Formats: sequence, C-alpha cells, structure tokens
Amino acid sequence: MAASEFQCTVEGFRMLTPTVFELTFKADRPFSFLGGQFASVIIPGAGPGGRNLRRAYSIASPPESDPVELCVKVVEEGPGSGYLAKLRPGDVFKAVSPYGDFVFSPSPERIPVFIGTGTGIAPIRSILLSKQYADNAPTKAYCLFGVRHESELLYVNDLCDLATVEWIPTVSQPGANWTGFRGRVTDYLRTLNDDFPWKTADFYICGNGPMIQETKSILEEKGVEKSAIHQEKYY
Ligand SMILES: Cc1cc2nc3c(=O)[nH]c(=O)nc-3n(C[C@H](O)[C@H](O)[C@H](O)COP(=O)(O)OP(=O)(O)OC[C@H]3O[C@@H](n4cnc5c(N)ncnc54)[C@H](O)[C@@H]3O)c2cc1C
Repeated sequence: MAASEFQCTVEGFRMLTPTVFELTFKADRPFSFLGGQFASVIIPGAGPGGRNLRRAYSIASPPESDPVELCVKVVEEGPGSGYLAKLRPGDVFKAVSPYGDFVFSPSPERIPVFIGTGTGIAPIRSILLSKQYADNAPTKAYCLFGVRHESELLYVNDLCDLATVEWIPTVSQPGANWTGFRGRVTDYLRTLNDDFPWKTADFYICGNGPMIQETKSILEEKGVEKSAIHQEKYY
C-alpha cells in the first residue's frame, strides 16, 4: 500500500490515563493499513520558519475498525502531541499513511512475544485485535506491557484475556496494592529461564530506544537470531 495524504475529521477525544489521550477520527476515504503500521501527522506551521512538521503515530486500532484510534502521550511543550491534544470532535487534520514494517508475520511453528512500553502498546494492540492475527492465531503468544505506575496501563480490558495470549503487565514503580510483576519488561525477561521458548519465538518490541537496546542484548544472550526480532523505536 503506497502512503497518501488523508483529511481526517476528529470523532472523539478522551484521556485514557492521566498522561495519555485517545484521538479517534474518520478519514475522507478508506484508510487502509496493516496492524502495527503508523500514520505521519502533519503539524501545521510548527517547524522552523513556520514550516509544517510531521510526527509519527502508530495506529492503535485494528485495520477493520472505524473510526481509527491513536493513543498519544502528552509530552511537555511537544509540538506534535500538543497539536493533537487540542483537537476536538469536528476538527480536521492531515495525515500521510500508511507507513512501517512493524507488522505481524504469521508462522505456524513460531510463538510471538510482543513487548511494549508506554504508548508502544498501540501497534501491538492493533496487531492483536486484527483479523489477520485472528485468522493466523498461534497456539500460544505472550504480551509484555511495561509502565512506571499501574495508572499508566492502557487497553487492559482489550488485551488481558485474549485467548492464547499470556498478558504480562510489568510495573516499575507500583503502588503498595500492585500484585503483578514489579520491575521493567527487561527485568521480567531476565527472570525467564531456558524453559522459555527463546529459539522458537518471534519478538515484536515497541517503545523507547534504551528499552529496545536492552531487550535486544538480553535476547542476544539467549541465542535469539536477529531475524526473529522486529522493532519499532519511538524515540
Ligand atoms: C514509528 C513511530 C510511531 C510512534 N507512535 C507513537 C504513538 O502511538 N503514540 C505516541 O505518543 N508517540 C508515538 N511516537 C512518538 C511521536 O512521533 C512523537 O515523537 C511524540 O509525540 C513527541 O513529539 P512532540 O512533537 O510532541 O515532542 P518533541 O519535542 O518532538 O519530543 C520531545 C521528547 O518527548 C519524548 N517522547 C517522544 N515520544 C514519546 C512517547 N510516546 N512517550 C514518552 N516520551 C516520548 C522524547 O524524549 C522526545 O525527544 C511514535 C514515533 C515513531 C517514530
């Protein structure tokens, strides 16, 4: 699918957590993409000399859903997230889409392991809820989702009880009542021993650069082939 420019009309805006909002929109024509791909939003006049800027946002909804959903972290003084945070139903923005190769490659003998931190869960949600995934559902999959505090967990209701997906939220600075794993996704990976199917798994990692780097180092120590690692680096 070649990327092209769309006029997008906002349908909804709501806070999902204290610092992440969901923006839903309808495009001026069919907005085709594969689960896990992203759109490049045009931020009018926010660049040097009043030029437009572009910012990438993973599509959080599956390809079959309408309206389309984005989930965006509020970044202080960020031109991209700040622009989207001010949009309300009826407002129109422009986006060029689809982009990206962080997409699901089904393989009957392989076990997908999805690892996302923060809004990095967005493309993973898109994949896991897609028809393509349902039609090729592996017998087992893992989904690790890392945040600092449990109030930052996104899409829990959508993802926690998907058939055959083991949902593993990890919280690095939890409150006293958190009963799940305490630590980062990388700390969780280090707890797994050789019973884990390292060599037959495909890893899909999305989030910040340092987390991706550290995860890849752990996978390398475990003997995971580079070809089994897919990544989407946000910053
Ligand atoms: C392929 C791709 C997909 C992306 N998808 C999403 C998405 O679905 N949701 C989303 O919120 N962001 C996403 N991003 C990040 C997004 O493109 C912007 O970088 C982000 O919104 C900040 O832009 P800004 O103009 O507001 O602030 P800027 O001034 O450009 O950025 C300021 C700083 O914010 C930090 N930052 C950037 N993104 C995040 C984030 N998500 N969480 C925490 N800190 C961040 C970085 O340290 C960055 O240097 C994606 C990035 C890429 C490359």
